Amino acid sequence: MPSIKEIMETMEYGPAPESNTDVKRWLDSHSGGISHFINGKFVAPTGPMTDVINPADDSVIATLAKGTQDDVDAAVKAARAAFSKWSALPGYERAKYLYAIARHVQKRERFLSVLETMDNGKTIRETRDIDIPLVARHFYHHAGWAELLESEYPGFQPVGVCGQVIPWNFPLLMLAWKIAPALAAGNTVVLKPADLTPLTAQAFAEICVDVGLPAGVVNLVHGDGETGSLITGHDDVDKVAFTGSTAVGRMIRKQIAGSGKKLSLELGGKSPFIVFEDADLDAAIEGVVDAVWFNQGEVCCAGTRLIVQEGVAEQFFGKLDARLQKLRIGDPLDKTMDVGAVVSHTQLKRINALVKKGEEEGAVLHQWAAELPKKGSFCAPAFFTGTEPAHTVNETEIFGPIACTMTFRTPSEALEIANHSRYGLSASIWSQNIDRAIEAGAKVKAGIVWINATNLFDAGAAFGGYRESGFGREGAREGLHEYLVATSGKKGKPRSATPLEASVSPNLGKGELPEIDITAKMYIGGKQARADGGQSYNVMGKSGVIGQAALGNRKDVRNAVEAAAKAGGWSGVTAHNRAQILYYLAENMSQRRDEFAALLSASNGSSTKAATAEVEQTIRRCFWYAAQADKFDGAVHATKSKHVTLAMPEAWGVMGIVCPDEVPLLSMMSLILPSVAMGNRAVVIASQAHPLLASRLYQVLETSDVPAGVINLITGERDVLAKTLAEHDEVAALWYCGSNENVKMVEEASIGNLKAVWTDGGFERDWRDDSQGQGREFLRRATQIKTIWLPYGE
Ligand code: NAD
Repeated sequence: MPSIKEIMETMEYGPAPESNTDVKRWLDSHSGGISHFINGKFVAPTGPMTDVINPADDSVIATLAKGTQDDVDAAVKAARAAFSKWSALPGYERAKYLYAIARHVQKRERFLSVLETMDNGKTIRETRDIDIPLVARHFYHHAGWAELLESEYPGFQPVGVCGQVIPWNFPLLMLAWKIAPALAAGNTVVLKPADLTPLTAQAFAEICVDVGLPAGVVNLVHGDGETGSLITGHDDVDKVAFTGSTAVGRMIRKQIAGSGKKLSLELGGKSPFIVFEDADLDAAIEGVVDAVWFNQGEVCCAGTRLIVQEGVAEQFFGKLDARLQKLRIGDPLDKTMDVGAVVSHTQLKRINALVKKGEEEGAVLHQWAAELPKKGSFCAPAFFTGTEPAHTVNETEIFGPIACTMTFRTPSEALEIANHSRYGLSASIWSQNIDRAIEAGAKVKAGIVWINATNLFDAGAAFGGYRESGFGREGAREGLHEYLVATSGKKGKPRSATPLEASVSPNLGKGELPEIDITAKMYIGGKQARADGGQSYNVMGKSGVIGQAALGNRKDVRNAVEAAAKAGGWSGVTAHNRAQILYYLAENMSQRRDEFAALLSASNGSSTKAATAEVEQTIRRCFWYAAQADKFDGAVHATKSKHVTLAMPEAWGVMGIVCPDEVPLLSMMSLILPSVAMGNRAVVIASQAHPLLASRLYQVLETSDVPAGVINLITGERDVLAKTLAEHDEVAALWYCGSNENVKMVEEASIGNLKAVWTDGGFERDWRDDSQGQGREFLRRATQIKTIWLPYGE
């Protein structure tokens, strides 16, 4: 037996297994198969069963049936039937159920931790100290939101029936992230757990029964992707919330395009972990342990691209190798283990194939060198040195305990490497220089930033990404919006799509050229621009043709996007500055109010009184958004002690705006103003029927100090141009006010870079009504929340 002195030197522990007797008993009692939970009842599984495997020893611990169309129909029907009563309950009544769920989770913490470990392979240390406490915290936090909903979210109501699909890496935690906010906001749900890890969801359903949750409020249907797609595509589901891979996220975006379902996507990542040479290197090394080897690296926000400043790189990699060799890998029920089993042999093969690819591409693998357990799907943790940004292992999510490393010389180089990714979920930044760390935090393209920390989660902090990491947020005040819709107003008339004919041939003979070119131009990059194709179209007014507008094409849209991309400085100027320019714009518009009113009357036949009222309201809206430019700001969230957690609304960057024909001046400005007030640069497709207003507008822009490229105005056939905008990867968000059939078209066209698309479903909006045409909702939609965790306090 080793002496205490020897133990202190080797730090060798004996085994410390957590008992799984209770869980085994529970598993025995479910030997008939894991049931769906529909309308408050456990539905005996039917049809062929698949095995649920404990990945740590390959044993079969349960069996599972695949949910069918009938199961999904029954679950959606139950959720719909339960919705009216559940949503009508006072918030404090809903809160009682959520509190009760939280308490029951806490009471069963040990049981749930062991069950999760056996189902997923993750270590008991993590399930016991992280996953399950966070599940309870999520329900407590959202019980509070249920209580406060009416007073904190005036003008909003629940969406309805939510179809939710989750992955296997944090089975119960992802379920909590989905169900808690949905229920708090008054929705009912049909959720599909991952087929590899269905067990804690079954235990959760039992908690729902124990707390007396009304039947149909929570429904669980098990199965694979096919069952998932029956839920996401179901006609009677109003909102889809998905966490999983980017590839499946795209499929779902396509599947439900044009259906009017609200959508949030939490997808993959390949997050940077930047170490500056002034970082506390030992702390950063422990950071890597948490960033990459936590949960076997099966973490969407894992900081797997280690970007280290050259001066300390060698030292850092040496320390990292030494720390890697000290990791303890083995039986995840053993409390002394750092790394457990990856979720399945299939996942292990995938990881190994990517590791092989990394070596083939010339990187050097530094791997944990001891012997892995004989049984189970264990993967030796590792990191690569000598990788290039374009290597497969730097571009592809490995979803295993493998990091890649790169080096940099200057902070700007670090950011260039960090932002060289299709994803944008999270970033970890390590530096003892607060200015440097915060500056990097502001510039890195990620939805979550941890300064001198990594993988911090809390129900009070929004979680979610940019670009191919999806859109929408989970947790905190911001996350609740995913489960609410504005109550305002009735739907207007459906809009129609009208094709356009070019009215002037681009190839006129010399003698045929009109004496003066009266075609209204477009406005791109601060300059008046003719249509690339040289064509125009007739603009019809109340008494026939009132002029010609440029018939823009794809090339014009691309030029405008390029100009908007170059105008990035606008996002960097102070909000005060933006406000001043919008005030100036309002003043200049008011000087031309009569011209605008006359053009409006000529264009759409509105009376002088109505046209003047529209111009007046447009000017007031300019003032309103100018006032909001420096007032619509973020928050400091109360999360864990020792942290200040900032929720910063950030501009998307380049936004596409497709304007409707109704109240054409007011609607166009109601869309442009919130977008640019928040720091976006807009590429605007003006009203197809009333494009001459756009040419009048650029004359105002030219005199109002709006920098070149911030507002670009294109005229032409709305939906041809909208398609190009929706497909363009440089456009981060799109607001589309066109016809119903083309809502589907733009949503489908947006899947390339998974841009956030906001439409009004193809129905006219009452832009004159401030509750529909103006407000914080527009500002919220013009931004996305970046959560920045800063260490603070003792
Ligand atoms: P996956 O996309 O294969 O599956 C996720 C879920 O979707 C599963 O329940 C699956 O059955 C279901 N599914 C599969 N095809 C479907 C379809 N066509 N329609 C509807 N549902 C379908 O992902 P995975 O392998 O289970 O999980 C790993 C992925 O999840 C990684 O990419 C990871 O980054 C991501 N993830 C993201 C977050 C986040 O918050 N951003 C959190 C955890 C995991």
